[in-house]
Amino acid sequence: MIVVFIGPSGCGKGTQAEFLKNKKGYTHISTGDLLRSEQQAGTEIGCKVKEDIANGKLISDDIVLALVKKKLELLPKNGILFDGFPRTLKQAKALDLMLLDIKKEIGCVVDFSVTEDELYNRIKGRFMCIKCSRLYNDPNYMPKVKGVCDKCQSTEFKTRPDDTAEVLSKRLAWFKELVTPIREYYKQKNLLKTLDASQSILQVREEMVSFLRI
Ligand code: AMP
Repeated sequence: MIVVFIGPSGCGKGTQAEFLKNKKGYTHISTGDLLRSEQQAGTEIGCKVKEDIANGKLISDDIVLALVKKKLELLPKNGILFDGFPRTLKQAKALDLMLLDIKKEIGCVVDFSVTEDELYNRIKGRFMCIKCSRLYNDPNYMPKVKGVCDKCQSTEFKTRPDDTAEVLSKRLAWFKELVTPIREYYKQKNLLKTLDASQSILQVREEMVSFLRI
């Protein structure tokens, strides 16, 4: 199935994405990760987007769509999960066309609903593995072995430079402005499922699994 996660930064999309990827074999396409990889590799795109990401601005549709297209050309066989994409109506419509080209269509759009206070709290405790970018949250989602990444066993962590209250408020403003038409678009297609993302990780997972019927 093709699944789309909609939700603001810090709503827990990434944590649930890890579950779908590791336990259910989904190919995880996070445009935030794709953009950060470009940055880390020092590509032309990476240099272009660096400042905008740090300031919580949205990256142009053209750049984001080109990165997603490149990923889809690898033709993932199993389910695909889009995380943090689409963020604009233009991206949503372009995604439908890209999927049509490979004879696939979206099966479910999960809308992660959470209050702003909760988001600020979660972002405050968020940190990531330097090597594999796995996200954690202090104190809610710590590595199983203290100081060691669950995924790649690296022992080096950092906070994301765009995880500050100031940048989060900019990212939230973009999100609120752009999400309404996207929700409407998927609601009309009868694909939208709203999930209470303020619950525990396990409860959110259960609700998501019931939506996806997996
Ligand atoms: P995320 O990791 O999803 O929180 O994304 C981090 C940052 O990458 C965002 O604040 C944007 O600057 C940029 N970004 C990620 N996905 C998109 C997208 N689909 N469209 C535009 N900008 C994006």
